[in-house]
Amino acid sequence: MNLAVSFSPSTLTLFRTTTFSITSSASTIPLPLRPPMDQTPKRVVVCGGGVIGVCTAYFLAKKGAAVTLIEKSEVACAASGKAGGFLALDWCDGGPVESLARASFNLHRSLSAELNGPQSYGYRPLTTLSLTVTESDTNPPSSSSTTSKPSTVPSWIDGPIRSPRTIGTLETTAQVHPQLFTRTLIAKAVEDHGAQVVTGKLERLELVGDRVGSVVVEGGRVIECDSVVLALGPWSGKLEVLSSLFRVYGLKAHSIVLEPREPNSITPHALFLSYYPSRGGKAIDPEVYPRPTGEVYVCGMSAEEEVPENPDEIRGKEESIAMLKRVAKTVSSHLGEGGARVKAEQACFLPCTDDGVPVIGEVPGVKGCFVATGHSCWGILNGPATGAAMAELVIDGHSTIIDLKHFSPARFLGRRKV
Ligand SMILES: Cc1cc2nc3c(=O)[nH]c(=O)nc-3n(C[C@H](O)[C@H](O)[C@H](O)COP(=O)(O)OP(=O)(O)OC[C@H]3O[C@@H](n4cnc5c(N)ncnc54)[C@H](O)[C@@H]3O)c2cc1C
Repeated sequence: MNLAVSFSPSTLTLFRTTTFSITSSASTIPLPLRPPMDQTPKRVVVCGGGVIGVCTAYFLAKKGAAVTLIEKSEVACAASGKAGGFLALDWCDGGPVESLARASFNLHRSLSAELNGPQSYGYRPLTTLSLTVTESDTNPPSSSSTTSKPSTVPSWIDGPIRSPRTIGTLETTAQVHPQLFTRTLIAKAVEDHGAQVVTGKLERLELVGDRVGSVVVEGGRVIECDSVVLALGPWSGKLEVLSSLFRVYGLKAHSIVLEPREPNSITPHALFLSYYPSRGGKAIDPEVYPRPTGEVYVCGMSAEEEVPENPDEIRGKEESIAMLKRVAKTVSSHLGEGGARVKAEQACFLPCTDDGVPVIGEVPGVKGCFVATGHSCWGILNGPATGAAMAELVIDGHSTIIDLKHFSPARFLGRRKV
């Protein structure tokens, strides 16, 4: 079967919806076990070296599968390397992603304990604030001599802010450095569990009857397998086997990484802003994440755009990057030109589906072909539970970690693509 390239644009609202609800206590997620020694390991090819493909490869390899990960550029070269890395226990509550998000938040915590997350990839719980920032606000409560700044707001946030609210605590919000997290996991899968990484572009799947038999990499290399997992992020829509069933498209978002001259002044507080530029500019919702490395990551400014074939060709728009710098310097004098050096200016694509729900399951009509994509703005959070559930599905035929019913690609059967 040939996998044709196809792309179809669409519209979607962008960033995280922050609905808050009561937190329940953390549950323990069972980690997968290896198969008995006398079983021949299942040969599984995972395509795509983003956080979703890597988490899947890690849990499959840990469960005893013979795993080959195919990545066309570099592991974590796209959104999984350039995301914020923010994690929230309960922000997806009340929606179809609730069980996935809760399981994954807890799995992040246990992975961090197992893999020395604080040192290896900057895992840490943090407090999260929501703030309103109005550029033209010359006398906000925070800088007024008569009104003292609320104690919830740390002193490095010295710009024109109003209405501070704590929306995440050390129990409910955390962070990782997404590139280091993804690369730590693939290194573990290789070193401890024998996974292999092949640099190359998946070109097509080959079937034996109605079952996947092998994948073909650009240049003609054939890798035989019992199962394949397609985790190509916003590039998933370029494979006909997927695009004929549902739509995945990319929403481009921008980010900058700053190195403050006084990193010790910056406390572990993630900021979700309602930001009002002066001269009546459109309100935006940027996010600010200080990292344990001393860096501060700022993201936002999204728009739907065609995903270029090569992840290395993704460039940010100058005006979007300039806006993020303006946000940074308005929020804190530590993040303006005099206070910080700009280490990176970048952009990447959120992988989105029409119903806003990830697609995790076996592709109807193609036995042994699984897909995991469409994680939108929560792929770093939801990577571990997606990978662990997918590993169980591929090896055991069902997942005990979460009920994958809501995520099945079969939900698109019979629906007309828009
Ligand atoms: C600005 C921004 C901030 C974000 N912040 C957060 C956050 O704080 N928390 C959170 O949970 N999520 C966040 N996200 C979302 C998160 O980054 C994504 O949901 C997640 O990275 C998607 O992972 P993925 O593995 O599906 O895709 P990707 O990371 O895009 O990986 C797909 C991989 O597939 C490879 N590939 C493509 N085609 C082929 C082929 N034919 N053969 C082989 N390989 C191929 C690509 O090279 C790429 O490496 C953010 C996203 C953005 C854009």
